[in-house]
Amino acid sequence: MNIRTRLALQFLVLASVILGIAFAVVFMRAADFRKEEFIGRMKDRGNNAATMLLQVDEIDDRLLRKIELASPVRLPEETITIHDHADREVLRLGDQHGRSEPTSELLALIRKDGTYYSNLADRELLGFSFRHGDEEYVVIASGLDIYGRRKLKNQAQVMLATYLIGVVLIFFIGRFFAMRALSPVQRLVWEFQQIGASDLSKRIQLDNDTDELAQLALSFNDLLARLQDAFQVQRNFIANASHELRSPLTAISGQLEVLLLNPRTSAEYERALRSVLEDMHALNQLSDRLLLTAQVETGAAATGFGPVRMDEVLWVARDEVLRMDSRYRVDVMIDEVEDESDLLVNGNETLLHSMVTNLMANACKFADDRRALIFLKSSTNAISLQVRDQGPGIATEDQERIFEPFYRAKNTGGTKGHGIGLSLVKSIVLSHGGSITLDSKLGSGSVFAVTLPKAA
Ligand code: ADP
Repeated sequence: MNIRTRLALQFLVLASVILGIAFAVVFMRAADFRKEEFIGRMKDRGNNAATMLLQVDEIDDRLLRKIELASPVRLPEETITIHDHADREVLRLGDQHGRSEPTSELLALIRKDGTYYSNLADRELLGFSFRHGDEEYVVIASGLDIYGRRKLKNQAQVMLATYLIGVVLIFFIGRFFAMRALSPVQRLVWEFQQIGASDLSKRIQLDNDTDELAQLALSFNDLLARLQDAFQVQRNFIANASHELRSPLTAISGQLEVLLLNPRTSAEYERALRSVLEDMHALNQLSDRLLLTAQVETGAAATGFGPVRMDEVLWVARDEVLRMDSRYRVDVMIDEVEDESDLLVNGNETLLHSMVTNLMANACKFADDRRALIFLKSSTNAISLQVRDQGPGIATEDQERIFEPFYRAKNTGGTKGHGIGLSLVKSIVLSHGGSITLDSKLGSGSVFAVTLPKAA
């Protein structure tokens, strides 16, 4: 069932119940009023007969019968009886219309309660006690409220017809309003359908910016903008990656072609092969980093998460960095910990190793003294790692951008690299629920501080 029909039905049920309750209350009130009015009329008729018979000496029961039978205010099929204290009938106006005579139990009950009302097969009966001097009489008046009941029935029929017409109208009005209320949604759906992966620059047109649908459209536009950025980053990444991969490949093939032009001495062959090997190493490193980046970005690495000791990661990374260049120096300082588990993080060892190696290698690569200072500290919930160097520092305007893939600041001088190390470092830190900050000034070294949550 679609929302439009559901809304219309809900509206219908609600309005029908309210209308039904209102009509029922009006009908019940009208029925009460009819009953009260008829009881009042029966009481007046009974009182009138008893007063004339018992208090007006000139009127006896025969004269009274004549007067009353001619009365224009008689009730339809009216019967009035008056009984004395010994249950003797002193007056009867009209016949019993097939009803049994009042029993002595009924008369005793009326004397006891003072008044009595009954309604049997539409014939209504009112009995009440009437005092005259020392004598107590019981007056019983009964009749059929033909007009009152007919009026009530007519009223009920009108109300039922009005109710049924009202319910039908409410359904159609409800449907109409639901359709009107949802027509902007249909327009939005249509606009959403017009946007494909290739035209993420399109945006939903807003009529206003206040209602809920406008908020939805705004959120959708924001989502589109983020997707567009993400697609752009991805496109740039692929373009940069292929460029970075092609450069060493071109260099290698160029060197080999030149080498093959003429016969060479073995020293020349060796020099050329070393250069090719260096390019091959760079290629290897680049493809490793691209692979790790892809792993982190797709979340594939998260499946291999487990407890990893950060001090061990540091030592292994240090050995690897020292092997890269004989001039590199790495000093590691680890704060005393009470328990070995204080240095545990929940993560992927290969990624954490790559993160530390990149930071250490950068420190050694860019600093003149080729020295990196590493501090590892454990606090209540986190483990913090600092990588310091006395290198050239990083300009403020470059500090955000160096974490972007393939961005290299102007301070690199002649150092080789692809600009992908720090972006990989940041992705790894974030995928482990940590954070990374940089404190650096041009000319006074850099401090990269990584905080990782401790393994629970
Ligand atoms: P790469 O080292 O291959 O250039 P990175 O992503 O590791 O790529 O670093 C990006 C840029 O950040 C570097 O090109 C350099 O400009 C700057 N950078 C990184 N680490 C340091 C550092 N320790 N000192 C100075 N600059 C740095």
